[in-house]
Amino acid sequence: MKIVHVASELYPYVKTGGLADAVGALVTTLAERGHEVAAIVPGYRALLDRPEAAGAARALRLHIPMGDVTYVGEVRAFSPRPRLTVYLICRDECFDRRGLYGNGERDYEDNAHRFLFFQKGAIEAMSLLDGTADIVHCHDWQAALLPLLLREAERRTRTVLAAKTVFTIHNILFQGLFPMRHFDATNLPPEYRGIDGLEFYGQMNWLKGGLLYADKITTVSPRYAEEIQTPAFGCGLEGVIATRRGDLHGLINGIDPTVWNPAIDPLLPARYNSEDLAGKAACRQALLKLTGLEATAKTPIYGMVCRLTEQKGINLLLANKDFFLKEKVRLVVLGSGEKRYEEAVKALCESAPGKMAFAHRLDEGMSHLIEAGSDFFLMPSLFEPCGLNQMYSQVYGTLPLASDVGGLSDTVIDLDREPRAGTGLTFAATIEGLRHALKRSLRLFADPARYSAAQRRGMTKDFGWATAATAYEKLYQDVG
Ligand code: ADP
Repeated sequence: MKIVHVASELYPYVKTGGLADAVGALVTTLAERGHEVAAIVPGYRALLDRPEAAGAARALRLHIPMGDVTYVGEVRAFSPRPRLTVYLICRDECFDRRGLYGNGERDYEDNAHRFLFFQKGAIEAMSLLDGTADIVHCHDWQAALLPLLLREAERRTRTVLAAKTVFTIHNILFQGLFPMRHFDATNLPPEYRGIDGLEFYGQMNWLKGGLLYADKITTVSPRYAEEIQTPAFGCGLEGVIATRRGDLHGLINGIDPTVWNPAIDPLLPARYNSEDLAGKAACRQALLKLTGLEATAKTPIYGMVCRLTEQKGINLLLANKDFFLKEKVRLVVLGSGEKRYEEAVKALCESAPGKMAFAHRLDEGMSHLIEAGSDFFLMPSLFEPCGLNQMYSQVYGTLPLASDVGGLSDTVIDLDREPRAGTGLTFAATIEGLRHALKRSLRLFADPARYSAAQRRGMTKDFGWATAATAYEKLYQDVG
């Protein structure tokens, strides 16, 4: 099939979170399986500076109407592997910036224009494809208007660019909400301005557009597909989702075994597998050395790598600080995000320097070392569409402690509930839920036979993309 993916992030070129990992692995796997795949992403400065993209050929000049004005830009293209072409929608004024979406304090004021230009540029770039795409697959709010913009462009130009469209929600919290005054820049007919179109409590909501106008909608785990139909998780869009229930599918992400595999991981000081865990002990030592913590083999190390935001349950962690202060345990946190959480985690870790360490940065190498060198991995998320770290940690022989929500529920089996199949501990996403799980983890760590059996089960679980790719292929065929 000819499949076009449109997304704001693409591993390994540009990443702020799981979106990049998921899209990067999906396009690679689909190309390996024989499909002709295009990935269309914004030409961010960070991406253009990478060696792979530096030589990207100029493929097309862009003249994009944005309301009454025209934005000029260009499409560049490069092909990192057979059957995969990456198209970059470039315009320095939009994408030559330090951050992808904001300056660290606030979102950029012109995000509506930046990502409208991106989506309209993506539609123009499709003219470079050899024939009509079978599927245009759009991801998250930055590409959510594309199914609608595409159909309108086809109507205007009387050409068919794509047979069918698929829209995937990686996190329903981020909706692409903009003041209605930006509607003019869409150049869409006025009927889309109203409540039956993009309007959402007086604003323009792009995610709503994706939900209404894509042929199929997916999200990244079966449990999250259920959850977003409820007011507790739907972030106000549960009513719109209800109208598309029959077209909504929950397909769990896989993980990339060429990047996340302790047997070949070049970012680790030692490698290991489920048969021989000596390398894991070496990684544990390296992690202790890096963080300046001391621990014997009997002192469990809890690792955490995430954006420091409300979603990730930082409040639950902070409310359980007594556990980390009083018990014979160690805690390592790597992350950055909201200032209030950065300061609170820093203060907690600095209050007990030998016991806890906080690294406030983006650090791919350290994130691998934490996965490998910890004994438990903490994911007390309040909601989690799919989550990747709980899968990485199982593969790295580090037992996840994960709240019982979204993709965490779908990928972690609780040891106390299923002693013969369990690979971690799950708990209600509350302060007490986490407290209880932490206590259970101490008992588990004190029982090496039980701990290692769970560890080996996790390490041999198949989280590869083959299952996910097969599910997407089937969806593409069914929609076509
Ligand atoms: P989300 O997309 O909500 O941030 P996911 O668990 O789906 O959460 O994916 C997060 C990805 O980003 C993981 O690969 C994780 O290791 C990585 N990550 C998050 N924070 C950091 C950090 N400070 N340094 C390195 N990697 C990080």
